[in-house]
Amino acid sequence: MGKLSPRHAVVDSNMCVACGTCADVCPTGAMEIVSGVFAKPIEEKCVGCGICAKECPASAIRVEVRS
Ligand code: SF4
Ligand code: SF4
Repeated sequence: MGKLSPRHAVVDSNMCVACGTCADVCPTGAMEIVSGVFAKPIEEKCVGCGICAKECPASAIRVEVRS
């Protein structure tokens, strides 16, 4: 089993407009759009780089320390 990164992306599903930008820009393929409604990171793939958060037009993504 791989070790998870210290930080990860967290999506506010109420703010997400399902544009797909985060999935397009994520270098590890960690974002999936669930049922075409909101984005959800695949925890094992997210490395917490924050690229998705910078590019999200709805400011729906934060990078946080994993709890
Ligand atoms: S970039 Fe932002 S608004 Fe677009 S799908 Fe991702 S989280 Fe949702
Ligand atoms: S923080 Fe980086 S690795 Fe994680 S979902 Fe966003 S772009 Fe992908």
